[in-house]
Amino acid sequence: MAPTAMYVHIPFCKQICYYCDFNKFYIDNQPVTEYVQALKQEMTYAFQDKVLPLSSIYIGGGTPTALSIEDLETVLTDIHENTRLDKGGEFTVEVNPGEADADKLLMMKKLGVNRLSIGVQAFQNSLLSKIGRTHSAEEAQETIALAKKAGFENISIDLMFGLPGQTMEMWEETIQTMLALDIPHVSAYSLKIEEKTMFYNWYRQGALEPMPEDEEAQMYEKLTSLLFDAGYDAYEISNFAKKGYESQHNQVYWKNEEYFGFGAGAHGYLDGERYMNTAPLNHYIKAVQHEKTAVKERHSVSLKEKMEEEMFMGLRMKKGVDDKRFKEKYGCSYLEVFENAVPALIKQGLLINTEGSLRLTEKGRLLGNEVFEQFLLD
Ligand code: SF4
Repeated sequence: MAPTAMYVHIPFCKQICYYCDFNKFYIDNQPVTEYVQALKQEMTYAFQDKVLPLSSIYIGGGTPTALSIEDLETVLTDIHENTRLDKGGEFTVEVNPGEADADKLLMMKKLGVNRLSIGVQAFQNSLLSKIGRTHSAEEAQETIALAKKAGFENISIDLMFGLPGQTMEMWEETIQTMLALDIPHVSAYSLKIEEKTMFYNWYRQGALEPMPEDEEAQMYEKLTSLLFDAGYDAYEISNFAKKGYESQHNQVYWKNEEYFGFGAGAHGYLDGERYMNTAPLNHYIKAVQHEKTAVKERHSVSLKEKMEEEMFMGLRMKKGVDDKRFKEKYGCSYLEVFENAVPALIKQGLLINTEGSLRLTEKGRLLGNEVFEQFLLD
């Protein structure tokens, strides 16, 4: 069965943030028009000129809104022509504050976008400039107000904690500002210092000190308690939603389901194979033009890997991994496959196995990575 979710990558940004290791390019002087054309070709070839029914479309980056209104409209129109979104389906576009005026937002709405994910990160200008963001807290608030005015109800914002120079007071102020703005979904991630980023260079030079783990954990606890009190469900380790606003697209990943991936450096999962497109822009454009695909690497996922991934990804969700579903997919219970790991982790108070589902406990949520590594089969 063909996947019902699709990810489209727009690898352009108007700034390069100091922490970012995504496949992205500073937009000036890039072959944007050729890229937009290649995206359409890649999609058409993959769908074999058929209109594909989908339940979720996600345009991420980079920054989709770094595109001009005309280029973004072309991308959305191409998607519109090649796909049919199910009733109740989700169509998300990532937005950077200050890059979407009323016209751009209304155009997105008209072409079927029904969810926005806004990269706010923090509500303090001093902190935003320290991480290389060029927008201000005021612009973030303005973009949110414009999005609501354009008729978007399903809005998510991204926030970051564990940032250099970020105090608990700043973090609490950011969360309270988000709550006052009445945003129904928030994704909150701690800073990870990744290779090939400015932060990594500064860290290696001794010019950047990561936040101590216990302080970072306190920030996570502050987040979960404030959001819980405000009626948000921590439906995934880093994602919080008011009822009915859980991200459908991300659940495709956490449920270990297949999806199409289009664009430079995009990942996809199709017919039991995970694949990655070539990342450099010109390589991507030429590959699509000449070979009708830009796939650079393919990996056939073994049964063992599928079962491992099912646990790593599924345990991130509050509802955990459902044993009935696991049995349907793999023909046996997770209790049989992970016969040593599960009882040991339950004994340590990190997992709980009730009502046919395996879930992380509160303690397990804080120690997620330590739990996940126990599900590696040798
Ligand atoms: S974090 Fe987003 S806006 Fe910043 S460089 Fe990365 S992709 Fe671009």
